[in-house]
Amino acid sequence: MSRKAKNILIIMAGFLLLLFVTCMLIRGCKPNEQFTEPSINLYRTEEKRSYKLTLEEYIQGVVAAEMPASFELEALKAQAVAARTYTLRKLIDGRKYALNADLSDNIYECQAYISWVEFGDRHPRDKEQWQKKIMQACNETRGEIMLYQGEPIDALYHSTCGGITESALESWGKDIPYLRSTNCNYCRQSKYYESIQVFSSGELHRLTGVSNTEAIKILTKTPAGRCKKLKLDNRLISAEEFRRILQLPSTWWSLKKHKNNLLIISKGYGHGLGMCQYGANGMAAQGKNYHDILGKYYKDIDFYRMNY
Ligand SMILES: [Zn+2]
Repeated sequence: MSRKAKNILIIMAGFLLLLFVTCMLIRGCKPNEQFTEPSINLYRTEEKRSYKLTLEEYIQGVVAAEMPASFELEALKAQAVAARTYTLRKLIDGRKYALNADLSDNIYECQAYISWVEFGDRHPRDKEQWQKKIMQACNETRGEIMLYQGEPIDALYHSTCGGITESALESWGKDIPYLRSTNCNYCRQSKYYESIQVFSSGELHRLTGVSNTEAIKILTKTPAGRCKKLKLDNRLISAEEFRRILQLPSTWWSLKKHKNNLLIISKGYGHGLGMCQYGANGMAAQGKNYHDILGKYYKDIDFYRMNY
């Protein structure tokens, strides 16, 4: 190669590098990295076997299982991003489930999931229309996740907060800056916004060993109002345990005695952390988009799209 040709090549390379750096400075971000869409192994509890799925196939099945398809499109999009982020966090943490699977459809340790065949069985009339809507929500947010300080967040969500979401600090004793309490007046349309459960003294005795409703005392509450500890006679019990025994929708209660019955008035459904799904739908119905929704329930997060 001649000296002149070499010089031209060096100048061109320098020009291209300058152009690249300028573009990056103007955009204020790293170049969009190319990702390969991850594949996951999902353990299906009922069948006791695992399936290999692409991440997006899995997210569609999670959205189908975790949120009513009749919800607003922007709420479904928020759900897709939350489910995708939650999944990424799980994959990074590297916990394994039965049969060494990456994820499980057991809601007590992971997220719910259904196949399109199961979805069709649940919604024989609206299957086509609702499947299309869920796929649209997933496709329009394809690869998008939430980050806090560059890391995918632990994007917890629940059905209905009942007026205020819970903080990680109160639930787990550990402050997680993006999981803080926020007022939510958007979930009033949920039947669990406030619900009443009635227990006869006999039933109460069978379940808790205590028949006198006055023997049940709420000892401590979170600032948001959810119960933390109760006393049954002289026995201390956590609110989570009491919720599980009586199968209550949440841990936010007021107790009332009515004749020989105990009335438990519960607010919300679920643990109250992160996104309130009915709240997401309420916000979407008022014209908010999925970024507004997620930004309300997860504080100070950034959105990031994996290109695949
Ligand atoms: Zn709510």
